[in-house]
Amino acid sequence: NWIGKSEGAEVDFAIENSSAKIRVFTTRPDTLFGATYMVLAPEHQLVSTLTSADQRTAVDGYIKTALAKSSVDRMASKDKTGAFTGSYAINPVSGERLPIWISDYVLIDYGTGAIMCVPGHDERDFDFAKTFGLPIRRVIATSLEDAGKPVEAAEPGEGMMVNSGPYNGMDWQDGKKAITKWLADKGIGQATVSYKLRDWVFSRQRYWGEPIPIIHCPHCGPVAVPDEDLPVMLPEVEKYQPTGTGESPLAAIEDWVQTTCPTCGRPGRRETNTMPQWAGSSWYFLRYIDPHNAEALCDKTKADRWMPVDLYVGGAEHAVLHLLYARFYVKFLKDIGVVSFDEPFQRLFNQGTIYYQGAKMSKSRGNVINPDDLVREYGTDALRLYELFIGPPEVATEWDDHGIDGVFRFLSRVWRLVTDNWESNWPETVTVKRATHRLIYEVTERFDSFRFNTGIAQMMAYLNTISAEGDNKADRTSLAALIKLIAPMAPHIAEELWQMTGHTGSVFESGWPVYDPALLVEETVTIVIQINGRVKDRLEMPKGISKEKAFAAAREASSESLAGKEIVKEIYVPEKIVNFVVK
Ligand SMILES: [Zn+2]
Repeated sequence: NWIGKSEGAEVDFAIENSSAKIRVFTTRPDTLFGATYMVLAPEHQLVSTLTSADQRTAVDGYIKTALAKSSVDRMASKDKTGAFTGSYAINPVSGERLPIWISDYVLIDYGTGAIMCVPGHDERDFDFAKTFGLPIRRVIATSLEDAGKPVEAAEPGEGMMVNSGPYNGMDWQDGKKAITKWLADKGIGQATVSYKLRDWVFSRQRYWGEPIPIIHCPHCGPVAVPDEDLPVMLPEVEKYQPTGTGESPLAAIEDWVQTTCPTCGRPGRRETNTMPQWAGSSWYFLRYIDPHNAEALCDKTKADRWMPVDLYVGGAEHAVLHLLYARFYVKFLKDIGVVSFDEPFQRLFNQGTIYYQGAKMSKSRGNVINPDDLVREYGTDALRLYELFIGPPEVATEWDDHGIDGVFRFLSRVWRLVTDNWESNWPETVTVKRATHRLIYEVTERFDSFRFNTGIAQMMAYLNTISAEGDNKADRTSLAALIKLIAPMAPHIAEELWQMTGHTGSVFESGWPVYDPALLVEETVTIVIQINGRVKDRLEMPKGISKEKAFAAAREASSESLAGKEIVKEIYVPEKIVNFVVK
């Protein structure tokens, strides 16, 4: 959304009974004959002068509501709103009077903050024209015969120019060039390129930000602070309230502001604006690898060792611009030789949004869960585990008020399993050992691929296996592995259990458990299938298979031989033979 450019033309529209002009940027100068009205952003500087006395109340009221919305809300809104200023612009190619409106679907910081509206071939202009009963005119058609065809919905603008005076019949792309040239010859327009990425104000009027290292000197002008005096530190102050003048709070701290010009040595004043939040967020990760380096941003050897960042986890809605800026910074740092890579992040992972009571959980909506309440009732580990268990992390998920109960029960079971069994020091059994190695494998795999929820489900299944097939008894090696596996998600409980079971040091220094691949292979037995005592087939089946499962598998494997016959008796020799007696 932020990268790319569009080529088009800037066009000046004269205003009736005024010397002012409205400049617009259009990618489609060939549709100029189809412009039937104009729209200014509510913040446009001409709005006040263009508003006629009888429209003043409507316009002022509209501006007030529009400015209360964010750009995103303004662009997303399906319903078109607006107010007529009472003034008219003149279409430069046709001389037609175009009513000038204001509407919040035009943003002041995109293009020129004003647009010419071609409702026949632009969807938003079409909606607006329909809402306010403004004329809609076709200026592009597949043939000259279609020139009179009414426009039912905004039509894509590829084809032949119609209703366009001397340009009728011309291909739209040729028309684009021809009209741009005509405008340029008249001195009322020119070809231009508009970039989607806009200039962004880099200074902020607040205390908390990196001071911009510039000194203003009455003789030398703005002078950069010399390298050896960097970084410029924020002054320590008791309060940093706004000044009330619109200036940065730093402007009020005279003994910080007053300094010496590095060039001429005469008195100068520090720049008091600070950098925006994203200035620091574009490179802070480089500092993590060398936080105490007073000589450089970071040591290049360390940067080569640790950077770029392997995995970046963040919300998609905030990530776009931040990632873009971080890339700018890193590419620049590479160009000046500070780092030797030019992409800051190798892999990006956007976590999903949490919904609650049918809406996105957000502070502004008020539908939030206070984690402190849950921590008091269930503990940090249970909350943490539930957040990981709630669903795949990249998918939007609904918060379930009772979901944490199940996770809490699971943690209680882990706690009891370890504390009840450790003293007994049970001998290792094949069943439990295999289940433990299977669990280590599954959890390791799933954590590596961000499938925490299914990893936790594996642990829950493991507890069931221990209770159903292992008589709820587990040996110490298996219990220690289980503690290590839950440690990343339930660190407090894991650390506590680790100590209670006589280990020294932190569970996090004990190493991740390792599985034996040989124990993952299920042991099988060969079962012979007979019909009336004759061997028909042999099947590989898991060791310890139940009688019912063995019969079911054997019936399915010999369904052809059994077709149309009645089974009068089934005989099972465990793990060896299934015999069907049929007639
Ligand atoms: Zn100076």
